[in-house]
Amino acid sequence: MQLFWHRRDLRTADNLGLAAAADGDEFGDVVPVFCFDDGVMEHAGPPRVAFMLDALDGLRERYRDLGSDLVVRYGDPSAVLPRLAGEYDADRVVWNHDYSGLADERDRAVRAALSDTGITHEQFHDAVHHEPGAIRTNAGDPYAVYTYFWKKWRDREKADPAPEPAPGDLAAVSGGAIPSLSDLGFDDPDAAVPPAGTAAARERLESFCEADIHRYEEMRDYPAEGATSKLSPHLKFGTIGVREVFERTEAARAAADGEAERESVVEFQGQLAWREFYAQVLSFNPEVVTKNYKDYANPIEWRDDEAALEAWKRGETGYPIVDAGMRQLRDEAFMHNRVRMIVASFLTKDLLLDWRAGYDHFRERLVDHDTANDNGGWQWAASTGTDAQPYFRIFNPTTQGERYDPDAEYITEYVPELRGVPAEQIHAWPDLDADERAERAPEYPDPIVDHSERREHALAMFERARGED
Ligand code: FAD
Repeated sequence: MQLFWHRRDLRTADNLGLAAAADGDEFGDVVPVFCFDDGVMEHAGPPRVAFMLDALDGLRERYRDLGSDLVVRYGDPSAVLPRLAGEYDADRVVWNHDYSGLADERDRAVRAALSDTGITHEQFHDAVHHEPGAIRTNAGDPYAVYTYFWKKWRDREKADPAPEPAPGDLAAVSGGAIPSLSDLGFDDPDAAVPPAGTAAARERLESFCEADIHRYEEMRDYPAEGATSKLSPHLKFGTIGVREVFERTEAARAAADGEAERESVVEFQGQLAWREFYAQVLSFNPEVVTKNYKDYANPIEWRDDEAALEAWKRGETGYPIVDAGMRQLRDEAFMHNRVRMIVASFLTKDLLLDWRAGYDHFRERLVDHDTANDNGGWQWAASTGTDAQPYFRIFNPTTQGERYDPDAEYITEYVPELRGVPAEQIHAWPDLDADERAERAPEYPDPIVDHSERREHALAMFERARGED
């Protein structure tokens, strides 16, 4: 017998480690396992845990269809897995790599505990096409600039999806119950959580690849268009495999009507490469979870302003596009990428607050929170990351709103106080005089800062950090 330990790969199809275990006849049948350890739920809020539990339900159902089950256990995996291997008389444990420092620490402890008891183990790179370190500069270093990474990523051959195990490869076991949110000490989520599971992921992928992928390049920055895939929670929890996603996008590229549509598919594939770029940044620099990637000569003097942070979290800054984004996060545990960039820039360059405060909030609220991508996104916006936004290029929230939500459709979807106010006035909100604001939308807040002033403060703050003052 052998154990297959699921972590962020909650599916049976296109799962490299699982397929390899199922193929390893000399080790016998595979017992699928999931272990609830503290790390799995650390810093997670109800939406993310709800999505994970739903994904686990789907995974267990699939195993039951295949004549097996998902064995569920609780506790430290370095104690649980050797014990479980003993219970099932298993002499090999297989799993797929995860690339954060925390996961690495946990896996090292598991490997040591298994080796102590004479059980072999094997790990596979399943979550990405090209594992951290596979794509390097000509000098042999990991890439710190996306564009060069992307060119090599794009030109490398991609593996085909891995086969799903056959029923005969899986052990006829019976698993424990999947806990409820309250069993794990969580309240029900306030936000609407999308359906998890491989069937839901495939439905998303299919509908996206039939239509929106062909207008993705043109529309991806317009939040009201809903033209992105919304695959992020599925890619985070691995309810669908990256090889399956890529293969489907290649079919969409082949079916494209003309060069612009083909390029649009490639633009989407470029986002899959961003995900792998940040996975390698995190893998080689695990300290970025709490530390700036980029060194400045002096510490950045972030402000300490609890009231401003709370207003940002509630979506009550008086900057409509920022507030719409923060309320989308509250209501849907998701936010459109362009708006994530705007709210992150606003927190760091207008409120002058430390990116870590924003990251903590996203980590708790986002259904798709992924350490590598979330950290990469925040450090990009804060001008502290790899290939980050230069510190002097500061988003103007008003012009961002005008450009990417010209009719204020996205804004008014999430900020009902502004419904009925003409779009130009919504965008100009921070510049209207107080009486006009009170007349137009008495319930909507006044701007909590002046963007032009704060822009100057931000520039000075970064210049001091650079030692230019
Ligand atoms: P699509 O546009 O359809 O992209 C397809 C997939 O590519 C995404 O599902 C995602 O896996 C990947 N991807 C897209 N953009 C990026 C990117 N910039 N960096 C890395 N991968 C990307 N993404 C997360 O998955 N989890 C996070 O916790 C996260 N936090 C972010 C925080 C900030 C401040 C910023 C600016 C971005 C963050 N992103 C994060 C990246 C991006 O916003 C989301 O991946 C995207 O909005 C998810 O929507 P989608 O699936 O419709 O994306």
